[in-house]
Amino acid sequence: MMSENIKKRIEKLRRLIEEHNYRYYVENNPTISDLEYDALYKELEELEERYPRYRSPHSPTQRVGAHPVSELRKIQHPMPMMSISNTYEPGELKDFDRRCRNLSGKDILSYVVEPKIDGVAVTLMYENGTLSYAATRGDGTTGEDVTHTVKTIYSIPSTLKSAPIPSRIEVRGEIYFENEDFEILNEKRQKEGKPLFANPRNAAAGTIKLLDPRIAAERPLKAFLYTFGLVENIDLPSQQVLRLSWLKKNLFPVNPHYKKYNNVQQVVESLSEWEDLMKSLPYNADGIVIKINDISLHPILGSTLKSPRWAVAYKFTQEQAFTTIKDIRLQVGRTGAITPVAELEPVRLGGTTISRASLHNPDEIERKDIRKGDTVILEKGGGIIPRVVSVVKDVRSGNEKPFKLGTGCPECNSPLKINQDEAVPRCENINCPAQLKGRILHFCSRYAMNIEGMGPALLDSLLKEGMIYKVTDLYTLRTSRLQQLERMGEKSADNLLRELERSKDVSLSRLIYALGIRHVGLRSAQILARHFTSLDEVARASEEELLSLPEIGTTMARSIVQFFQISENQELIENLKKYGIKTEKSQSEKSADREENFFTGKNFVLTGAMEEFTRSEAKEIIEQYGGRVTSTVSGNTDYIVLGENPGSKLDKARKYGISILRERDFEKKIRLTQGE
Ligand SMILES: [Zn+2]
Repeated sequence: MMSENIKKRIEKLRRLIEEHNYRYYVENNPTISDLEYDALYKELEELEERYPRYRSPHSPTQRVGAHPVSELRKIQHPMPMMSISNTYEPGELKDFDRRCRNLSGKDILSYVVEPKIDGVAVTLMYENGTLSYAATRGDGTTGEDVTHTVKTIYSIPSTLKSAPIPSRIEVRGEIYFENEDFEILNEKRQKEGKPLFANPRNAAAGTIKLLDPRIAAERPLKAFLYTFGLVENIDLPSQQVLRLSWLKKNLFPVNPHYKKYNNVQQVVESLSEWEDLMKSLPYNADGIVIKINDISLHPILGSTLKSPRWAVAYKFTQEQAFTTIKDIRLQVGRTGAITPVAELEPVRLGGTTISRASLHNPDEIERKDIRKGDTVILEKGGGIIPRVVSVVKDVRSGNEKPFKLGTGCPECNSPLKINQDEAVPRCENINCPAQLKGRILHFCSRYAMNIEGMGPALLDSLLKEGMIYKVTDLYTLRTSRLQQLERMGEKSADNLLRELERSKDVSLSRLIYALGIRHVGLRSAQILARHFTSLDEVARASEEELLSLPEIGTTMARSIVQFFQISENQELIENLKKYGIKTEKSQSEKSADREENFFTGKNFVLTGAMEEFTRSEAKEIIEQYGGRVTSTVSGNTDYIVLGENPGSKLDKARKYGISILRERDFEKKIRLTQGE
């Protein structure tokens, strides 16, 4: 190829890839397959590799490649980033309209209304058509440079598309997390013993301020753009609706729900419609923003110190409930992680009765100053998980007790340890009864040894009667002794023993997962089982060997090696063999490793609450079998997995004619895949 042709081809590929990013990430309506997209991407990568003089930091191939920064540089905004003032009553909206009409001398004003996204405000500076930097709002005049992390958001274009190209233009909007993505992120962090993000906004802020863009790239941040800062050498349209069209033409993600109204009365009449819409959105929006459509009035109306006078927010109040904290209990997980949980006076909220709420970690309790006996305000974060928003301090009697972590484990009194890099206190006693209980329940759980009938109540009595001291004691249980337990007839005793007997013929991946090695989930257990042929081989593996496996990082490799160094765990494995549990891969497992299954290569979307799985579990299972989980329904979605109270995704799935898997069908597919 002639050099001019190469340059043209590179430019064309970049344009095509950005266009397909837009269709995929913004419109959820891809027009090419993943395979075709990958081919374009690969071709571009190869050309840039071969012809370094055409490389560009604005190429779509460079989104994740940036190196970590050592600190966030300060950036002075050429025009201040203002915030919009809030109203809560329809009367206040009418006052706003009256003020604007008086100041502008107009009889009637039309408005554009959009959802108010609860995210992090950013400004994107494009110089001569390419993204030169992205910055946070900061104090309104000075923000922080977050270009390296914002670049990892595929829906944000790195170049402008539509001529004429301004010499400089600032596009402004909001970066946010969808509720489900937020929950999945937090579930993952909980499993890894990392501090949890308080809400999606907190997670978005924490992510864009990361120094390492590679970590940010793993988190599905999204964005909506809706306004401008500095604009040079170009006349933007003079109406807000047309400016939104300009953004769309340049492939910026624009909230699809915006609407124009001819007067304030129409806006007021639409409020309940907006409130309903808010509930169905996959992200947090606690209100709407109302802007005057005629931009030429902006300079006439001006602004106050903090907010423009031509826009206002209207906030819907979230459903909340008051209740009292009866106690703050410490829960010890199977890895020893300790989570404070509030025991609440039961209260109805959003259709369910709530009696407990996680308080996440001691830092969070201190930050909100939550005390035993306090009256608190509850909300459902992301619509599902109840959370304590704040304490009503006015009604304190003086008898409320501040929370104290104490120095010992609540179950075994061993000294607690708090690692520097996590806010989670931990009991490190491997014989801690609470951890033992957690480990046994995990060992018996459905995707581990799958021992039906072994629940927390039965386990409690087994421990109390001294019939079990360690995991493998399960295999020493006999009918005669079991029948001595309360509520345990001959039949259920026999059933339990049959389950235990059956579990001995376990697959290697289930067995590895059942051990409950810290950081080793279903998917990693599967990867280990694919590479090794027996549990002994896993136990003998060095950190280097483990690190050579796909998706196994330093933390996990180290945790696996440490697990098998502990003498109690070595004993556990000897005992497993002694009781006849299969610790080697069978011939059929070996051939199954190479086979495709129902999940392989398919795209899934999860919606609603399932009974047996959390979202992150379902995601893990699907990925374990080679499927993919995305958070939005598109033409590429193969199946939508349906739980209770599904959101708007179901309607969308129906629109696209996507097959629906109910929870029990989903379960059936898993069992089939597992060869059961
Ligand atoms: Zn303990």
